[in-house]
Amino acid sequence: MLPLETAREFVLDRCAARKPERVAVADALGLVTASEITCSEDIPQFANTAMDGFAVRSADVADAPCELRVVETIAAGHAPQVTVGPGEASRIMTGATIPPGADAVVMVERTSMAKPAGTAAGGADNPETVRVEVSVPPGNHVRHAGDDLQAGAHVFGVGTELTAGHLGVLCSLGMTEVEVFGRPRVGVLSTGDELVDDGSPLQPGQIRDSNRRTLLALAHRADVTCVDLGLVRDDPDAIEAAILTGVDSCDAIVTSGGVSMGDFDYVKAVLDRIGDMRWMQVAIKPAKPLAFGTVGDVPVFGLPGNPVSSMVSFELFARPGLRSMMGHPDPIRPTVGATAAEDLPRRVDGKTHFMRVLATPKNGGIEVRSAGGQGSHMLWAMANANALAVVPDSDGVRAGESVDVLLLD
Ligand code: AMP
Ligand code: MG
Repeated sequence: MLPLETAREFVLDRCAARKPERVAVADALGLVTASEITCSEDIPQFANTAMDGFAVRSADVADAPCELRVVETIAAGHAPQVTVGPGEASRIMTGATIPPGADAVVMVERTSMAKPAGTAAGGADNPETVRVEVSVPPGNHVRHAGDDLQAGAHVFGVGTELTAGHLGVLCSLGMTEVEVFGRPRVGVLSTGDELVDDGSPLQPGQIRDSNRRTLLALAHRADVTCVDLGLVRDDPDAIEAAILTGVDSCDAIVTSGGVSMGDFDYVKAVLDRIGDMRWMQVAIKPAKPLAFGTVGDVPVFGLPGNPVSSMVSFELFARPGLRSMMGHPDPIRPTVGATAAEDLPRRVDGKTHFMRVLATPKNGGIEVRSAGGQGSHMLWAMANANALAVVPDSDGVRAGESVDVLLLD
């Protein structure tokens, strides 16, 4: 049996980052930057107010309370027209430009108007005045130009996964496109004579195809483009045709079933004929068998058929491989430390066990308990789990002991 790390290194070595391409910022969520992003202008570009209130000369309000003559009302998006002179103030709304002459803002809650709010500033014969209750230092509630980013600044480096906040920054910079490593198209295929996927009544010996849905969903969560390659019978010609169709239209293929030692495990025979495959027995439970290799230059992940095994195998091998193709510098999910809230028993068998657990916050840390049955066919417990406890070869973990966990999506 191969150690997990050795098997995964073999996979990652064959999942190089895809070619950089330009995509619309609108389509870039979850993609990874392929070039450095710098800032060509100050953000914000102009000094503006963080509060609704009055733009004042701070020296004028040093002896507050005091009264100032209101010379203008400035809304966000409109340039000030009037310079604030001694004894004067401009009403100003959050985000509006600080007018010339003013150096501070007094929030509206610290003022009172001599006339009801909402009346336009009066003319010379009927001047509107504001009573300012507090003194404020220069710069009070002023957001200066370049506060967030200054022109020329390094913004994001190569290898940055674009999240919601990153996309917002790109928009602030006026960018409509961004250079990223491409999003791979990933084809997902189920194999097995026993499988039914149309909701029709089961004939003796049949089961329903659950893997294709879970694997497509996991692929979706890994931010790739998913392609449903359907369900194929245990027939070598049909399997070959389906894989070749997938290779033509996809950048990677994920299959489930047919890679173990059974008489009708034809995926193995077909992939050996048309691809350059490595058949591995990995020292893990579940998901010991793994077929990985390439057909042409398309990586193919031959995952085991048992529902939990296929999901764990996707998590441990396919997800890191696909994320490596997307240019992620650290494609493997990190483990975090947790405490077992109950015994997590297992047998010594030379393998690392990935136990389905429920992780919850406890006293500033994480505690885990079993999510249910640990059989590789017990998909319900996997569905209820939000983490995999990494239990090294031993007789298990006792309640109160620490254990590493992989937090799932
Ligand atoms: P195999 O790897 O083809 O020997 O399959 C191992 C086990 O997983 C068998 O019990 C299969 O019936 C089951 N299995 C294979 N493919 C699927 C699938 N797509 N959905 C649910 N169970 C499956
Ligand atoms: Mg099968």
